[in-house]
Amino acid sequence: MKTYDVVIVGGGIIGGSIAFELTQRNLRVAVLDRQELMQEASWAAAGMLSPAPDSPAAIPIVPLGRASLALYPQFVAAVEEASEIRTGYRTDGALEVLCHGDAERELSTLVALHHGLGLACEPLSLEEAREMEPALGRDVRAAAFLPDEASVNPRSLTAALLTAGENTGTTLYPGVEVTSLIKSGEHCTGVKTTDGESFFAEHVVLAAGCWTSQIREAAPYAPTHPVRGQMVALRHASEPILRVLRSERGYIVPRDHATPQNLVAGSTLENAGYAKAVTSGGLEQILGAVNEFAPCLAGAEILETWSGLRPGTPDQLPILGPTDLEGLMIATGHYRSGILLAPITAKLITEWITERRVSLNCEDFSPMRFTRSNADRSAPADGSATAE
Ligand SMILES: Cc1cc2nc3c(=O)[nH]c(=O)nc-3n(C[C@H](O)[C@H](O)[C@H](O)COP(=O)(O)OP(=O)(O)OC[C@H]3O[C@@H](n4cnc5c(N)ncnc54)[C@H](O)[C@@H]3O)c2cc1C
Repeated sequence: MKTYDVVIVGGGIIGGSIAFELTQRNLRVAVLDRQELMQEASWAAAGMLSPAPDSPAAIPIVPLGRASLALYPQFVAAVEEASEIRTGYRTDGALEVLCHGDAERELSTLVALHHGLGLACEPLSLEEAREMEPALGRDVRAAAFLPDEASVNPRSLTAALLTAGENTGTTLYPGVEVTSLIKSGEHCTGVKTTDGESFFAEHVVLAAGCWTSQIREAAPYAPTHPVRGQMVALRHASEPILRVLRSERGYIVPRDHATPQNLVAGSTLENAGYAKAVTSGGLEQILGAVNEFAPCLAGAEILETWSGLRPGTPDQLPILGPTDLEGLMIATGHYRSGILLAPITAKLITEWITERRVSLNCEDFSPMRFTRSNADRSAPADGSATAE
């Protein structure tokens, strides 16, 4: 029988960041992963640190994203110091480009939306945009600079988190698959694994990405599903691209300033179950989008292709916080923003565990919102009790 203060299920960036934060508070932490850690969505990500919403559904996440972006410099510094691994953190900002429709009108809307959400966004003339990024092609009709946005190399960051975790005393259990929760009355006291082993803890945190819903008794709190994203790594020999470039159809994230330069381009949003395939249609979509606004990339060499599974949720919001099972906490559903949201997630879960209160209003992200809405649906409209 193994006993810890906190058992975390899932060794992606979310589980790894929470473990790193908790060990700073001298808690005994175990991270259980059914395979080698950091091999799933967190490894597959592009690494943009953008708090801007990509749809109206994502607007409630903006304050969380801003808070996390503000934590990033100290988060990266702490992880790099504990691991002695560089994470590729860059604070060069991003350019959002518009290539279709009434681009000038769309630019005004984009700028107003950002300002309304407290996000810096500067409209640029096409001359200014091309001066900042000579790679921009003729199809670009309008552009804005997002000076506060940043990026990180997720593979370097996850490798650094893994090493930092080991160096700071987290016990890592690769190859341990959790099947169910151990309950004692209204308390969650641990988890059971496929080989029948039990791990006991005062606090259990489920951070198993899109697979969280597959853990027995977790689905009512964390109805996650996979949303596939395909990616392409490129190397191009012309003038380096200096910052993240994106349009509504795709993005490029530079990984270095070298010549030739390494870049990654993405991505697709697909409901394809748990199949991590790379498809010709997916690649066509990504490359078509980036070649449109940066045509110099048409000559770039393709180095690697891959896909990953984002943890999606029914309302596209993350699932963070305690449940009505004392001792059970959820930290998943970060969908397209888990790299951005890792530092704030680690901070909030640590606050819940150590102080039983949090410094941000997280009501919108409560795991109890799904159980409440199920209860609402099954309650009769007049509020009377149902009879069998
Ligand atoms: C193509 C792509 C591009 C992206 N780009 C960005 C970006 O630019 N910026 C950004 O902020 N976000 C981005 N994301 C989203 C981000 O990658 C995810 O939100 C984030 O990685 C989720 O982290 P996680 O730790 O919750 O999940 P994961 O990294 O998927 O980790 C979950 C872990 O749980 C383990 N596990 C599952 N089931 C069990 C079990 N039963 N028992 C034990 N272990 C289990 C898995 O093996 C895995 O290691 C992107 C995602 C993709 C796919």
